Amino acid sequence: MTDEQTDILIIGGGLTGLTLAFYLHKYNIPFKLLEKSERMGGVMQTYNEDGFTFEAGPNTGVLATPEMAELMDDLSDKCQLEIADPKAKSRWIRKNNTWHPLPSGPVQAVNTKLFTIKDKFRILGEPFRSKGNNPDESLAELVIRRLGKSFLDYAVDPFISGVYAGDPHQLITKFALPKLYNLEQQYGSFINGGIRKKKAGKSDWEKKATREVFAVKGGLKNLIHALQTSVPQESIHVSAENTFIQPVDDGFEAHYTKSGKKLSIQARRVISTIGAFDIQKLMPFPDKNMVENVTNIPYAGVVQVVLGYKKWEGMSLNAFGGLVPSKEKRDILGILFTSSFFQGRAPEEGCVLSVFAGGVRQPEIINMPDETIKKLVLNEVKNMLGSVARPDLIRIFRYQKAIPQYDITMKERLQQIDNIENQYPGLIIAGNVKNGIGMANRVEQARRLADYLRTQLNY
Ligand SMILES: Cc1cc2nc3c(=O)[nH]c(=O)nc-3n(C[C@H](O)[C@H](O)[C@H](O)COP(=O)(O)OP(=O)(O)OC[C@H]3O[C@@H](n4cnc5c(N)ncnc54)[C@H](O)[C@@H]3O)c2cc1C
Repeated sequence: MTDEQTDILIIGGGLTGLTLAFYLHKYNIPFKLLEKSERMGGVMQTYNEDGFTFEAGPNTGVLATPEMAELMDDLSDKCQLEIADPKAKSRWIRKNNTWHPLPSGPVQAVNTKLFTIKDKFRILGEPFRSKGNNPDESLAELVIRRLGKSFLDYAVDPFISGVYAGDPHQLITKFALPKLYNLEQQYGSFINGGIRKKKAGKSDWEKKATREVFAVKGGLKNLIHALQTSVPQESIHVSAENTFIQPVDDGFEAHYTKSGKKLSIQARRVISTIGAFDIQKLMPFPDKNMVENVTNIPYAGVVQVVLGYKKWEGMSLNAFGGLVPSKEKRDILGILFTSSFFQGRAPEEGCVLSVFAGGVRQPEIINMPDETIKKLVLNEVKNMLGSVARPDLIRIFRYQKAIPQYDITMKERLQQIDNIENQYPGLIIAGNVKNGIGMANRVEQARRLADYLRTQLNY
């Protein structure tokens, strides 16, 4: 006899699981959610300390999917969308000990010192270059083929460090940047594709994805709080440890412990939204080899160091942040100038910075002691931003498994996920193991799942 019964059991209370819960509740579909930690939100966490508001995990999202924009609309009575100040939208790229703005238009692109003259000329030929025909092509190969090596080194490589903490030589374009892959496949060229897509116009639904950078007033914890308080509290169980599921007649049975007590839930469907590394323990029943092909996805580890200054005396930070290409061989991946584009994050004359280090580029950094990381980061901030003052606040956050890398093993992984789901109808493996890593991707996946379940279950 199980303790509870429900239609849908969600495993994991990060952004994916909570968004799914939000829409299931909106559609009147009964669900339960099990979260192993004592707090919801997964990797998203906001802190308020000593006059600073800062994030651990994501600092910003992009309204890159209509689903993300619509979620913010749906929650507008509970949390307020904050669009990043457009005055600070310039992205800086480090080259030869100087920051250069990433070109945002053709004139800047001609004048920038980031790219070689040869590659600037190559761009003119981009629309005439033939279309790639290798679906397993890495992002680096694609960029060199269409745009040239200096675009890879001083635009795509730092961008990929900023998003994936990854290596464009390892990431497969089709999985890591599917929109870019499709642009070439559909239109034969990025430039032609961009122009033709613009001309074709957008539906009202597509127009919602404005691509603006956003957060939530007071920090992303308010988004998590808004989601969490919009669903019935009795549907959510935090501190649910040692969860595993097993197939039974007409669904699945989940067993977990809470405060030492053994509990169980029976559900018609189970949706996993947890990281790949936690999946094996959750579902011990499918063939081991099949599950291994899902759980073996490589992750980049990331160290995030938050620095708070009550009075900033370094260079003017009138930008979104700065990214550091691999070629520059420095100790950090990039710096976000969070208080330059969001209100109320630091005292009037001060600033708050998020410095990222490690990633696929320097995996050893995450295992260094705090003091070594502090020294290394402060040294880079002194060199790159001209600040010699000791910050008033330093916090270090380590994410051993921060971002999954959609590499060459991805094709096999997606196949195995399909195989497992076909073998065990009612089981869905979601989360950032597939369908994108950004907040907007997570919300898109969750919303699509909720819509699919609504149709399937006839609600
Ligand atoms: C350092 C960092 C910086 C990032 N920066 C950005 C950014 O700037 N912009 C952006 O768009 N995205 C960013 N991302 C990515 C984005 O934050 C994540 O993709 C997203 O928040 C993941 O949400 P999720 O719910 O899929 O996973 P998670 O947040 O990982 O949530 C999964 C949840 O499942 C729980 N769980 C695990 N195992 C079990 C189990 N067996 N039983 C029950 N619960 C379990 C976990 O405790 C966790 O709460 C960043 C990520 C990191 C780590």
